[in-house]
Amino acid sequence: MRTENPVLIIGGGPAGLRAAVDLSEMGIEVILVEKRNELGGAPVRWKYKTLAPMMRPTEEVMNPLIEHVEKSELVKVYKNSIVEEAKGNAGNFVIRIKNGLDNRVESLNVSAIIVATGFEHFDARIDPRYGYGKNPNVIGIHELEAMLKSGRVVKHDGQPPERIAFIFCVGSRDRATNPWCCTVCCGVSIKQAIELKEILPDSQIYMIYMDVRTFGLWEKLYWKSMEEYGINYIRGRVSEIYYTGEKLLVKGEDTLVRGPFEVLFDMVVLAVGMEPGQGTKQVAKALDLAINEFGFLEPKHPNIHHDSSKEGIFLAGACVAPMSVEEAIAEGSAAAMQVVKLLHRLAKPIEAR
Ligand SMILES: Cc1cc2nc3c(=O)[nH]c(=O)nc-3n(C[C@H](O)[C@H](O)[C@H](O)COP(=O)(O)OP(=O)(O)OC[C@H]3O[C@@H](n4cnc5c(N)ncnc54)[C@H](O)[C@@H]3O)c2cc1C
Repeated sequence: MRTENPVLIIGGGPAGLRAAVDLSEMGIEVILVEKRNELGGAPVRWKYKTLAPMMRPTEEVMNPLIEHVEKSELVKVYKNSIVEEAKGNAGNFVIRIKNGLDNRVESLNVSAIIVATGFEHFDARIDPRYGYGKNPNVIGIHELEAMLKSGRVVKHDGQPPERIAFIFCVGSRDRATNPWCCTVCCGVSIKQAIELKEILPDSQIYMIYMDVRTFGLWEKLYWKSMEEYGINYIRGRVSEIYYTGEKLLVKGEDTLVRGPFEVLFDMVVLAVGMEPGQGTKQVAKALDLAINEFGFLEPKHPNIHHDSSKEGIFLAGACVAPMSVEEAIAEGSAAAMQVVKLLHRLAKPIEAR
């Protein structure tokens, strides 16, 4: 099927890439606008070693999507760019793409738009309990991914940590910061703990959790972590991390035995949650899209993510809600299908629609 105007996709992460691949494989021209200087979204930006739950190397999932998009004659990629304006209607939007490096602006006509601007990590500096950004050796799960990928996990003094704590639900399920569940952070933390044990087999790892929410098939990581890797679980909440000058003293309450604990660790990994980022806010404003009480893009119908509040503009991935890579990829495909339906409908004579 050929259409006069290409389809615009904003965001080159798993959701946006999948949508671009599907549309171009159907012969539809695509304009892909990515604000960073590389495609791949969070898995590439934060150098995820593997993807939970199957612990498959990230490249095996992401590279085919990126390579297809970069090689396809039907996909034009604008990196370092944002869409600063979109006017018009389904079938014919006039958009302005601005390059963030040289401020060059280009106007184009597009038939439909898919927004796939993803998420940002919760900035743990906001919550003073953890001393993130002040205490050495307190890091986020996104930062640990790159260390795991490099095969070298060390403290700030270059030495490997012996005792490591993961703290779950940092900036998630917390009414003082973000009340929603990040859905993947428990599973990602457990995956990382297993990978840590493979690199540092003598390390002792403690998971300090509120609940362990390993949904669906991700649950197998939980049992594996205890039975095969000897990873320990403490149900509790942390009230403070204090740096002694040498170690990190983690203070909190054990909510199973109902008593306080104070334990020394060499490294603390914060399972920081997912929240709508500046990129999603920017696109919501530029396209005048509805957002919900949490700042995620609001679909037209609850439970059906792909229709936005505007005809001809579709949504996909973690800009709508926290989700896994596999869900984001499926949402990219779903949004692409909605675009095809729209184009098919617009191609019909008016009386036949
Ligand atoms: C530490 C961590 C580890 C994880 N590990 C796993 C895992 O092992 N398995 C798993 O299934 N899931 C994992 N996830 C979840 C996974 O990262 C997300 O599900 C996935 O990245 C969502 O894809 P997306 O395309 O919706 O968004 P993103 O990956 O966030 O991609 C969005 C893209 O849009 C771009 N963008 C944003 N705003 C704009 C704008 N205004 N204009 C243009 N471009 C814009 C961004 O730069 C980015 O490239 C993990 C999450 C975290 C926090």
